[in-house]
Amino acid sequence: MAFQLSVLVPTPAHSQLSGPLSYRSPSPWGPGQLVRAPLGKREVLGVVWDDAPVEGDDGYDKDKIRPLSGALEGLAPLTPGWRQLVSFAASYYQRSLGEVALAALPPQLRDLSPVQLQRRIKRHAKDTPSAAARDTATNAPDLSPEQQTVMAQIRTQAGPFLLFGATGSGKTEVYLRCVQELLDADPQAQALVMVPEINLTPQLEQRFTERFAPQYGADCLVSMHSGMTNPQRLKSWLAAHSGAARIVLGTRMAVFASMPQLKLIVVDEEHDPSYKQQEGARYSARDLAVYRARLDGAKVILGSATPSLESWYHSRPAEEGGRYQRLHMPSRIGEHSALPLVRRVDMNHQPKHAVFSTPLLLAIQERVQRGEQCMVFLNRRGYAPVLHCSDCEWKSECPHCSAFRVFHKVDRTLRCHHCGFTERVPHHCPACGNADIRPMGRGTERLEEHLAELLAHTRRPDGEPVRIARIDADTTRLKGALENQLAQVHAQEIDVLVGTQMIAKGHDFRHITLVAAVNPDSALFSSDFRAPERLFSLLMQAAGRAGRDADISARSEMWVQTFHPTHPLFASLKQHDYPAFAEQQLQEREQAGLPPMSFQALVRAEARTQEVAQGFLNLARLCATDQAQEMGVTVYAAVPMSVQRIANVERAQMLIESASRVHLQRFLQHWHAVLQATRQQPEGKGLIRWAVDVDPLAI
Ligand code: ADP
Ligand code: ZN
Ligand code: ZN
Repeated sequence: MAFQLSVLVPTPAHSQLSGPLSYRSPSPWGPGQLVRAPLGKREVLGVVWDDAPVEGDDGYDKDKIRPLSGALEGLAPLTPGWRQLVSFAASYYQRSLGEVALAALPPQLRDLSPVQLQRRIKRHAKDTPSAAARDTATNAPDLSPEQQTVMAQIRTQAGPFLLFGATGSGKTEVYLRCVQELLDADPQAQALVMVPEINLTPQLEQRFTERFAPQYGADCLVSMHSGMTNPQRLKSWLAAHSGAARIVLGTRMAVFASMPQLKLIVVDEEHDPSYKQQEGARYSARDLAVYRARLDGAKVILGSATPSLESWYHSRPAEEGGRYQRLHMPSRIGEHSALPLVRRVDMNHQPKHAVFSTPLLLAIQERVQRGEQCMVFLNRRGYAPVLHCSDCEWKSECPHCSAFRVFHKVDRTLRCHHCGFTERVPHHCPACGNADIRPMGRGTERLEEHLAELLAHTRRPDGEPVRIARIDADTTRLKGALENQLAQVHAQEIDVLVGTQMIAKGHDFRHITLVAAVNPDSALFSSDFRAPERLFSLLMQAAGRAGRDADISARSEMWVQTFHPTHPLFASLKQHDYPAFAEQQLQEREQAGLPPMSFQALVRAEARTQEVAQGFLNLARLCATDQAQEMGVTVYAAVPMSVQRIANVERAQMLIESASRVHLQRFLQHWHAVLQATRQQPEGKGLIRWAVDVDPLAI
């Protein structure tokens, strides 16, 4: 007797075989069972999928259908909820089921022998906390009135919730309390708490461990993020899957964690672009979290001081069509914890080419002399210096990309941030031989250097010279480097911290009384319609870094240097008025028919030439003209991507837009086959790859 099972294996994204494959098995494993299956010459991990097993030896070709290598016995099957989440994600984001399902599982599962697996499962069974350990007192503070109101709403309403709370208003405390109530009430329930970046997990982990370890044991909590080793990932996954871990803390990948008793999902800093996966299945972990909560009957809380305009729009009053419940905590915790004063410096009245205006420089000096800390940031990573010849206008272009290579002073190299191509800095201009070639534009490195010159005579209260440190992707490449630098800031060994947006996010700096954004203007006039939204949230975040301690918050300031001081974005910022900013932005978006009032997808194509990439897209567009019209979907002509060439590969994209999400989805489902067929045409020759990005964040 044998059974024929349909099994998901890691199939390539666009392969014709994108559904489950058939395998033979002596046992009728049910849906969700993890198995080992042969695929080509390899043995891979697989998941038995939902079609009913076919019994008996007849009815299928035994020579074609291969037998399974084995099952991971003892592991509970993946739940129907998990399988539905995977199915939805695959279909919505237009990827193969196998790819999505297997990317969500720890790769090491496949390598465990049955004996190893049994040992691990037993270990987790032992770890399950006993009810007796549950009476320990906790170290939780009394809730503020705003926190109490919000808690009462979460308790009694269904959500999804958008917790709109100022930085320092006690959102994290609300998450902790919701998790606490859940764990206390239901001895099995699990909670998933997501943060945007790996850097933020240690802080959060510490806060959760302090709160829950005394009562539920240190093993009640596990992390999941891409910085973990495979053995660590496996361990966390097994703990969550077995139910031993009651709390999972993680980055976007954690939205796929197997948590059979999931009852609460928190998405902190829900506006953060890091929740969107930027390769493979380009899912939004925030959106999937909301979907998953509905599938699992869990509550979901999205939290932010500057919500994404999507979530803000969804949380408009129900009478106007809102689907989320908006909860508001406007006040910072602590009696004197005012938000910092926002000061705009009109750069039109400063000397030409000045990087630091005189008033800002004076303000920084004053703080240093008083023994307080300042933070100066450039809002764009890409704002790095390009090498330039003043004689012939040569610039350090990358030969393989349509981008400039960036000058790195430390090792005197020119480095392409897109393809990685690196060369020693030339002594003479490669075009005209001029020896006077120098950087133009300012990266953080030059900013730090420049500031050091300007503050050369400034002294700390102890008479020592000012100490400046820089934190960005370059200074933190080594493991532990960021932690070290942050520790120095916390220990007040640093007076001025210079960096990119990396320093503006989440870190709890206690002694910073001045935050300055030196060049935020570029985002005001970007072709990317989301640039103002990102800038506003970044500046609010940065402002939130100042004055975290009640006794210094009264004299905390946020400085913005701009050529457009009357821009509405800065006016709203000065008032710390996110709703006003959101209102103005949503009006603009509505007039222009942009998200969240409309829905978008991008199809990207890569080829050796721009003609081939665009030709492929335009032909696929032509073949779907009627359908697009029928379904009320607009398909725009192909255009080069903003970085048109990377590593000698030309990139083009095509925008698809609709006022209806359902129509857009229906069109994409139909169009997928058209794109695949187009690839087989002569016009598809030379195409390297293509992919769909649904709800893209950057166009
Ligand atoms: P957010 O997540 O909104 O930035 P946090 O939850 O981190 O805010 O709270 C900010 C600070 O206030 C933290 O140091 C936290 O420990 C403290 N805090 C939060 N809620 C309370 C409370 N009810 N009573 C006293 N301190 C609180
Ligand atoms: Zn030259
Ligand atoms: Zn390059």
